[in-house]
Amino acid sequence: MNAEYDVLVSAPEISEKIRKLGEELTELYAGEEVVVIPLLRGAFMFAADLIRAMNLPVRVEFLGAASYGEETVSSGEVRLTLDTSFPLHDKNVLIVEDIVDTGLTLAYIQKLLQSRNPRSIRSVVLLDKPSRRTVEVDLHRTLFTIPDKFVVGYGLDGPGGFWRNLPDIVALREETENTHSE
Ligand code: 5GP
Repeated sequence: MNAEYDVLVSAPEISEKIRKLGEELTELYAGEEVVVIPLLRGAFMFAADLIRAMNLPVRVEFLGAASYGEETVSSGEVRLTLDTSFPLHDKNVLIVEDIVDTGLTLAYIQKLLQSRNPRSIRSVVLLDKPSRRTVEVDLHRTLFTIPDKFVVGYGLDGPGGFWRNLPDIVALREETENTHSE
């Protein structure tokens, strides 16, 4: 794993932003319960750190959404691969997403969860690639805006499903993109 990559966001930068977001959410939801819903799989690490920065009664539910096949460009098709296990009616729902690119995945999930009549619904997103947006999405907070590069690390995978365990968020260089595909 001596990769050829460029660090876009370092682990300490990530922790600092998450600490602040946790404080902000703690104030925002003071006195209320929150159902935190990470979108699997890319958001698992962000969500794990974020909930520990939130001093609130929190429950965690998972949703699985897939918009990519084996490719690194969005197919535009969203598939639900896992659904939540209890009713969201009258709950404060906090969707946790790794990255918003075209916006298709999050827009689909927001519409789906909105139809379950939650008390409130907000989305917090680790990375934003605004240059590629094709649909408008309502984002409560995005932690980092990045250029149109394919990034991996801190939960996000690359070719073959590798790279999620890197502590930083990095852009793979071309020659590295195919070296861990099996
Ligand atoms: P969207 O539907 O907004 O185009 O895509 C969102 C999903 O595509 C994200 O949840 C993520 O799984 C994937 N995605 C988009 N850009 C990247 C990227 O640069 N790296 C990785 N690993 N996944 C990405």
